[in-house]
Amino acid sequence: MSYIGHNGKPIVERVSTANAAGQIEGLPRVPISKATAHEVISLSYGFFTPLTGFMGRQEVDATLEKMQLPDGTLWSIPIVFDMSAENIEKFDVKEGGSVVLEYLGAPMAIFEISEIYEYDLERMAEKTYGTSDARHPGVKKTLAYENRFIGGEIMLINEPVFNEPFSNFWLTPKQHIDALVEKNWKHVVAHQTRNVPHTGHEALMKQAWFAANEDMPVDNLSTGVLVNAIIGQKRVGDYIDEAILLTQDVLRTSGYFRDSVHRVSFTLWDMRYAGPREAIFHAILRTNLGCTHHMFGRDHAGVGDFYDPYDAQNLLKQYRDGLGIKPVFLRENWYCPECQEVTNSALCGHDSKSQSFSGSVIRSILTDEVKPTQRVMRHEVFEVVLDSAAKYGQGSPFVSEQYLKDRLPVFTLKQLEELD
Ligand SMILES: [Zn+2]
Repeated sequence: MSYIGHNGKPIVERVSTANAAGQIEGLPRVPISKATAHEVISLSYGFFTPLTGFMGRQEVDATLEKMQLPDGTLWSIPIVFDMSAENIEKFDVKEGGSVVLEYLGAPMAIFEISEIYEYDLERMAEKTYGTSDARHPGVKKTLAYENRFIGGEIMLINEPVFNEPFSNFWLTPKQHIDALVEKNWKHVVAHQTRNVPHTGHEALMKQAWFAANEDMPVDNLSTGVLVNAIIGQKRVGDYIDEAILLTQDVLRTSGYFRDSVHRVSFTLWDMRYAGPREAIFHAILRTNLGCTHHMFGRDHAGVGDFYDPYDAQNLLKQYRDGLGIKPVFLRENWYCPECQEVTNSALCGHDSKSQSFSGSVIRSILTDEVKPTQRVMRHEVFEVVLDSAAKYGQGSPFVSEQYLKDRLPVFTLKQLEELD
C-alpha cells in the first residue's frame, strides 16, 4: 500500500509511543492549549503532509508571499507555534533543544526546536486573510499570538483516545486511504462541513457525486462521497459536534445514500475563516485523505462579508496546477415550490418564488422542536438532532456556554504513569 498525499509526497506519520517515559525524561514540559493540541495531532498523523512540524520563518514567508512552501509545494495557511519570551526563558526553550508538549497534564509530543523567531503579526494577518480588520476572527487569532514563534519537528508519544461518538468517525490519513480502497472507490469527492445537513446540502453532495463520476464506466460507478467534518474551536450558536457527525451519518443509514457511496469522518482543525486561502488549505487536507475531488460552494470558509461569495472558487482556479485534487464548483441550492424540488440558482428560473435554506429559519425550527417538512430536512436527521441535543447538548443542538464548559471531551490522553 502506498500512502501518497499532497504534491505527491508520502503521508507524514510522526508517532513513536514506545518507552514514552524514557523518551521524555529530563526534558522541560510545556503546557499547550487545545488549539495547539489539535494541530499537534493533525501534524503527527499527516493531515498536513508534507509538514512534519511547526513552521520556521522561511516557511511562513513563502506561504504568505508565494502561496507555497520553500520547495515550491502549494501551501496557503501558516501553521505556527507561538510562545512568550517569558515562557521561552521559563521552560528553557532553545534552538537545538527539545521540550515535551503537555496537554491537560499529560505528556503528548516531543518538540525538537530548530528555530525561535519574531514575526510581524499584522503582516501575517493581512497576507493570510486579505484584511487586518480585527473583527475578522482569524485576524483576531493572529493578532493575539505571543511575541515569539518556535519552528521544529513534532513526534507524538501519546496517541489520543477518541471518546464516543467521535471514536466511530476517527480515521488517520492512512486509515482514510485504507478505507477508500476497501470501499473500492476510484474517485472520492470530499464534502467539508460544520453543519447538520438540510436537503440543500444533501442535493449538493449528490450533484458533486455526479460530477465526480466523470470518466467512469456507467456500469461500474466507483465514486464515493467523504463527508469530512471540521471539529475544533466552537462558538456559541454553532451546531454541537456530536449532532453534526451523527446527522451526516444518518443520511446513509436511512438510505438517502447507499452504504457503497458514503462515509463520514472528521479532521481536528480550528477554522480560520480565511475564505479563499482556507479553501486551498481544505483541498490540501482532503488530498491527504485520499480524495480526488473536493466540493466548493458559495462563500467557502468565509465569514461575515469579508469575501465575495465566489472568491474562493476563483483562487482555486488560479492555483489549479498545484492542487492534487479537482475542485467541484457548486452554486447555492434552494427549494423551489414551482419546480417542487431542491434546485439551484444557476438552473431554476423561478427566482421570485425560490426559498433559500436560510440558516436562521432552520435554526428556529430546531429550537422550537417543530418537525420540519421533509423538503427542508429529512425526518431521520431531525430525530437525530433531538437525540444528540438530549444526550450531548444539555437539551440544545447548539453550542452554549454550558456546553463549552461541561461537554464530554473529544479525546483524552493517557497520563504519564499509564504510558508504556
Ligand atoms: Zn423553480
